[in-house]
Amino acid sequence: MAKKPFKAEVDRLLKLIIHSLYSNTEIFLRELISNASDALDKMKLLTLIEDQFKNEDFSPRIDIEIDEENHTLTITDNGVGMSENELNTNLGQIAHSGTAEFLEKLTGDSKKDSNLIGQFGVGFYSVFMVAKSVLVRSLRAGETQAHSWESDGTTGYSIEKCDFNGKHGTSILIHLTEEHYEFATRWRVQNIIERYSNHIAFPIFLHYQETKFEGEGENRTEFKQPAEEQVNSAQALWTRSKSELKEEDYINFYHTFAHDQEDPLFYSHTKAEGNLEYTTLFYIPQKAPMDLYQANYQAGVKLYVKRVFITDDDKELLPIYLRFVRGVIDSQDLPLNVSREILQQNRILANIRSASVKKLLGEFRKLAETDKEKFKIFVEQYNRVLKEGLYNDFAHKEDLLSVIRFKSTHGEDWVSLAEYKDRMSDEQKDIYYITGQNEQVVRSNPLLAAYKKKGYEVLLLSDEIDEFVIPMVREYQGKPLKAINLSENDSLFDDDGGAVPDDEKHKELLEKLKKQLEDRVQEVRYSKRLEEAPAALVNSQDGLSMQMNRMFKMMGQETPEVKPILELNAKHPVIEKLLLMDSEAELKDYGVMLLDAAYLAEGLLPKEPHIFAKLPFKLL
Ligand code: ADP
Repeated sequence: MAKKPFKAEVDRLLKLIIHSLYSNTEIFLRELISNASDALDKMKLLTLIEDQFKNEDFSPRIDIEIDEENHTLTITDNGVGMSENELNTNLGQIAHSGTAEFLEKLTGDSKKDSNLIGQFGVGFYSVFMVAKSVLVRSLRAGETQAHSWESDGTTGYSIEKCDFNGKHGTSILIHLTEEHYEFATRWRVQNIIERYSNHIAFPIFLHYQETKFEGEGENRTEFKQPAEEQVNSAQALWTRSKSELKEEDYINFYHTFAHDQEDPLFYSHTKAEGNLEYTTLFYIPQKAPMDLYQANYQAGVKLYVKRVFITDDDKELLPIYLRFVRGVIDSQDLPLNVSREILQQNRILANIRSASVKKLLGEFRKLAETDKEKFKIFVEQYNRVLKEGLYNDFAHKEDLLSVIRFKSTHGEDWVSLAEYKDRMSDEQKDIYYITGQNEQVVRSNPLLAAYKKKGYEVLLLSDEIDEFVIPMVREYQGKPLKAINLSENDSLFDDDGGAVPDDEKHKELLEKLKKQLEDRVQEVRYSKRLEEAPAALVNSQDGLSMQMNRMFKMMGQETPEVKPILELNAKHPVIEKLLLMDSEAELKDYGVMLLDAAYLAEGLLPKEPHIFAKLPFKLL
């Protein structure tokens, strides 16, 4: 029997899983039961839509057999099973593209790490935390030859033909290591199932040896007799009525469903009746899923039709900016044999989707009002991704703007646009914002001082996406949103007077500087609104902004060179000095220095850092 080695990283992964999860070994059972349940879901669908299986008398079930004497545990399901090929790809390697990344993300904290394991789809391997060896036997529905997969978890695996009752399904026989013999005892196993898998929608039967007695007095003898007991309620949680469910039920279901050890931040269970009949159960995880910003993220919502699982791979069930939501949509009105194509333009689903968005956004808003602490966690995790909605879901712009939060010059905390608007004085007409690389850099932008002096609050935006989405928002309840670092947006300071000198000497200086810096700036001008800093950079309406340009570069895109406008503070002593300067060369050095320092203040690198680095010493 030739053994196949595990794919490169599996070996390392196994060791890590075993060690990092050491204190939480029992979750292996949850993972295996959840795999069995998925396989039953798939089989059930086949019996409903595929002619080949329509006549089958299918009663889905999971059987767990305990052999205390031999220290083994067997988990059997009559689901779809796996072909030889599937055994190879599903169990013999980690097909997941995120494996390397997964390894990097492991922290050594077993609670956090066990979360990751679910997210990265390496659930099956967790069995090697407790197993000396594992024998998987499986028959794929529709095939006649079963196959076995056997491994000790370290030296590779082997696949062979085998017998399997002639019925499709999978059985996993685990030989426990000595320190984990406890997992072959009835109470321990029952307890784990109740804790993690009570709401698996299929019955789970526990098989064990019951101790019985025979005879009386001296003749009384003890003997073992096989017994069987169903240990879960086997009812899909979301189909039960809200009134009979406790918070604990919802939370336990979430752990199994979302492979998340942590409790959800909150959840929302809705049963709609009337025109459309459907149930939704949505969870917001405490922490944003690891793959939130990966193009190939895993969809978090599963679609069921009349309690039959249809798909967990439809990213259109909710809008993309709600991809962190976990949960279930169960419709009474869709046909069972919906294809992917039908799903995409299905009116029923579109209606459920739009009601769900409304519901979720409403729940977020409610959270903001009722639980400040939780809402803060929510904002920290999901503010950024919700902003994507401003870009592609205009219909919900107002709702989104009521839950998205911003940093601002008002203080350190998150603020809402509503709060901002409440604080606006009568003479303030616009909502001001500035974008930049990170909060600290934005907070120290030289333009802010002038707004502060007027008593105007400025929103400080430092998510990359702000550059795209905030201009699209345009206005909030009749108040236009204006970027303060746009050259056109300085008319506010028109009447302040004195800031922009127009005598010949000053004009001449601008001309000279502009000539010297021609290839780097669009314009040099005196600022109406600089208070302390000698210079600042601003963008012009029709050009690409500096921040946008940096983003495009990061994405590897070619962009035309962006030339900002250099604004000078005519009241600053440096300008006085420049006015007295005769040498063109010296003037250029100072010009470059002002320009590059302004770049740094934006958190951006000067165009030629090596030249800038030498300038101060040269000028000293
Ligand atoms: P995940 O369940 O997150 O995909 P696992 O490592 O737990 O990751 O399982 C890998 C794959 O093996 C599953 O996606 C499934 O295709 C297959 N598999 C595991 N257990 C079973 C089972 N009992 N019946 C059928 N297929 C299974």
